[in-house]
This record gives sequence, C-alpha cells and structure tokens, in this order.
Amino acid sequence: MKKYLIAGNWKMNTVVSSAEELVNSIKLVLKPLPESIKVLVCPPFTNLASVKQNMGESSLLLGAQNCHWESKGAYTGEISIDMLKVLGVKYIIIGHSERRTYFFETNEILNKKIHSIFDNFVKPIYCIGETLKERESGKTFDILYEQLEIGLKNVKSSVVENLVIAYEPVWAIGTGIAATVEQVEEAHDKIRNKLIDMFGENANDILLLYGGSVTPQNSLEIFGLKNVNGALVGGASLKAESFIDIINSSLQLTQH
Ligand code: PEP
Repeated sequence: MKKYLIAGNWKMNTVVSSAEELVNSIKLVLKPLPESIKVLVCPPFTNLASVKQNMGESSLLLGAQNCHWESKGAYTGEISIDMLKVLGVKYIIIGHSERRTYFFETNEILNKKIHSIFDNFVKPIYCIGETLKERESGKTFDILYEQLEIGLKNVKSSVVENLVIAYEPVWAIGTGIAATVEQVEEAHDKIRNKLIDMFGENANDILLLYGGSVTPQNSLEIFGLKNVNGALVGGASLKAESFIDIINSSLQLTQH
C-alpha cells in the first residue's frame, strides 16, 4: 500500500498557548488513520514540549525544524538532536530553503546534519528545490541532483528507508503559486530515479513529499501522483481545518 506522510511546518509561528490550541484543534477532528498514513507537526523549538504533551494518545507525531550536527558543546544558540529526542521528536526538517537562504546552510553543512540525524535514529526530512531563476535558465535538475549528491554523500543504502525528501520549489513556497501537477510529476519521477541510481532498489522506500503552496484544493490531485507520498505544508498547516482537509485527501486515496 502506498505510504503517506503529511507534515506541518509551523515555521516561526505560535507561542505556547496558540501552539496548544492548534494541536488540540487538529486532534479533535483528526479521523482514525491507517498505518500507511502518518501526520507530523513541526512547531518551533520552544513549543515542542507542550505540543507533545497535548498530543496525548493521538496518532500525531512530533517533528523539529532544524538541529545542530554536534551532540553538545560550545555552540551558543544551537539545539542538538539529543535535546530534541528527549522531547519526543521523531523527524527533523533539514535544509528548508529559508535556512539555505537566510542562514546560509550549504549542501555540505546539511550532509553533516543528515549523518548525525541517522546516527541518532531520527528521520531527516531533507528539503531540496530550485529557485525561479534556476528553473527559468533550465538548471532545475542540475540543482536538485547536486543537492541530493552532496547532501546525501556517504549515506548508506541500508538506512534510506528512514529518509524523507521534500521537493520544494523555492518559487512556490509561501507564494500561493503551487507547481503544476505536471511539474510536480516530472520532478518527483526524476528525483526517484536519481535516488535509485544512488541507493539501488531501497530508494523505492524513500517518502517523497511535495511542498509549496499545498492547499485542500490541490492536495488530492498532487497526492494521486505515483511518486508523491504526501506534503510538507507551511501556511495551510497553521489552520486546523485546512490541515485536516489535506490529510483527508490522502485518506480518500487510500480508501479507494
Ligand atoms: C514550507 O514552508 O515548507 C512550505 C511549503 O510553505 P507553504 O505551504 O506556505 O508554501
């Protein structure tokens, strides 16, 4: 059965009280899900503990938006994977384009983080994507392949079943302009083939998420594509109703 992961990236939004409110509203309307559908929320670091507590016995999973690659030490302002694990974090978003752009994270830095995440038995959600300029100059797949080759350098094929890739065209993030279904299909098919070249048949188990202005209006069509296993959702994950509607698209496709 096809697997889905629907991940909400709350970015730098919510304080403890509004994060609790949001997770409780999601919990309230979340239908029972089959094993093949997982739902993840990724609040800011300061709200992880209270969100986890409020998840209670629900099937919701907890994710973080970033981490450092070292386990401890003199790295003022940074957060280690150990610190996240004790809070119940199961996934960590790595290499979001906002981190690449505003915090100068390179593919080489992200490779260090990905290795540390695997060493700690947590699952990385590795974001890749091209800018509009790169797409317009025909460089989309050179950029994506470079992000995969450097970011995943020396990753063993025995661990890739725990790897999640989020294809997020930078021009579609937070703009309200999602990639077309054809663009998503082309990118995801090529990413899958590239991963099979790199890791062999195990790469068929890697979940490929699409991210970039996913809404309840476009999620069903996008999730129906062969190589799409769900979404990394920004804006629409901050409202329980729209997040739930997106989750329900995967449920609809699973039940048919
Ligand atoms: C994101 O931040 O990963 C994202 C895809 O944002 P949005 O859904 O708002 O475009």
